[in-house]
Amino acid sequence: KLSATNANLWFGNKQVLKNVTVAFPQNKITALIGPSGCGKSTLLRCFNRMHDLSAEVRIEGEFLLEDQNLYKGKLSATEVRRRVGMVFQQANPFPKSIYENINYGLKINNIPKDQRPGIIENALKESYIWDEVKDDLQKPATRLSGGQQQRLCIARAVALRPEVILMDEPCSALDPISTAKIEELILRLKKDYTIVIVTHNMQQAQRIADQTVFMYLGEIIESGDTKQIFDKPANELTKNYVKGHF
Ligand code: ATP
Ligand code: MG
Repeated sequence: KLSATNANLWFGNKQVLKNVTVAFPQNKITALIGPSGCGKSTLLRCFNRMHDLSAEVRIEGEFLLEDQNLYKGKLSATEVRRRVGMVFQQANPFPKSIYENINYGLKINNIPKDQRPGIIENALKESYIWDEVKDDLQKPATRLSGGQQQRLCIARAVALRPEVILMDEPCSALDPISTAKIEELILRLKKDYTIVIVTHNMQQAQRIADQTVFMYLGEIIESGDTKQIFDKPANELTKNYVKGHF
């Protein structure tokens, strides 16, 4: 579904991704794990062209969504970002109302005005937050709790009907109850989306991920079924990392 082949990336003259080849299958959850600084966020950002915004970055290799090249084909960056949604570690709603947070992306993508209220309601329902916010959609999003803000950010991604949702440590700023809610939500979204989640929480990876990819110093060391990666890792580095010996 979503894949990279022989991807290399440099920030200035520092190489941060090294010959990365990886595939994220449709309707599966893939956990991307590895020590701090190994390049997980950098890799995720390649898939929705976030690096376009910086002149310092040089990218080589192929990034495909289905069989369409994310960089070299006719897809615009806006189109790529609609089809490949992103959710960040620090929930980052705009300092606007709950409604406007979702409406904004719909406007940018030229969704007709009369369709927007219905889409917004559905996205909030799909993200398990509707009941908590339906009485006041004009409330500033920044007044929601951290867990609610994160679900709103998921709703913002979902509203654009992406094919893939990339999540960069979506629960690391949340308490266990909010984390459980988001995990339940992610598991449910799996039937409609391809999901990639970066996490430092090894229990979380084992609870929700079908496959797990282990990165180290910009390279993919090992990937496979989550159970196999945690129970029978083939590589010594993977073994030490999943045991917490890093
Ligand atoms: P963490 O688990 O701490 O979030 P990560 O695996 O997501 O780490 P990245 O943020 O992808 O790691 O960073 C990979 C490497 O690239 C690091 O060495 C980092 O310092 C470097 N890096 C990231 N962004 C930039 C940038 N804009 N300019 C220069 N170097 C960068
Ligand atoms: Mg990161």
